[in-house]
Amino acid sequence: MFETVQVDMIPAGRGNRPGTPLNGPYFITVHDTANPGIGANALMHAKYLKGEAAEELPVSWHFTVDDTRVVQHLPVNEHGWHAGDGSNGEGNLSSIGIEICENADGNRAEAEARAARLIGDLLYKLKLPIVAVVQHNHWSGKNCPHIIRARKDGWEVFMDRVRTQFNTHLGEEDVPMTEAERKQFNALVKRVAELEEQHSMKVPVWAKPAVDRAIALGLIDAPADGNSRDFFRILTIMYRHGLLDDNK
Ligand SMILES: [Zn+2]
Repeated sequence: MFETVQVDMIPAGRGNRPGTPLNGPYFITVHDTANPGIGANALMHAKYLKGEAAEELPVSWHFTVDDTRVVQHLPVNEHGWHAGDGSNGEGNLSSIGIEICENADGNRAEAEARAARLIGDLLYKLKLPIVAVVQHNHWSGKNCPHIIRARKDGWEVFMDRVRTQFNTHLGEEDVPMTEAERKQFNALVKRVAELEEQHSMKVPVWAKPAVDRAIALGLIDAPADGNSRDFFRILTIMYRHGLLDDNK
């Protein structure tokens, strides 16, 4: 199952939404908001990104995740300003930026778990490898995402969760069957039904004399429906070879 994303885009044309295509995208950059204030959740950051302060800097990124929701601010094919590596920076121009909230009134563990799921979803949808996920630190040397970086094995544990979510999507069928595949599938369904019927069938006409004799002799219980084709065949062979005759 994919993480639900609430869309609240920075309006097109604003100073912090350049509208130019993202290269790739080839990377996903993980940030912490560094804003522990009460109420500094995903919705507050969505509001901030649509305001003047963010436009003047300019600063922007693609998703903010808190303990209850994911909000998207930019399309995944447009670049933002979040990596701190300048206007020609690979981080800014080829990565999707994700901010994880750390508001004091939120559940940080939940926010991280949700962010990991979102990233697992994005890797799958965008056909990116696990190594495409990098820290903001990778681009500019900034200590970000600072909470994950400060924790022992923080990044490894976070990436394990990303991998777990990514793996849940493997094998999910999101491509409709072709006509040839559908025919093959229907033939398979029919064959399985046939095999099941052979495994548990009503007494076939050709086996009736043998079955009647076996019942009369008390060898099997009546009715004999529900036995397999092989069972009826063997009974019939015995019957035809005189093995079901009286007092033999
Ligand atoms: Zn950052």
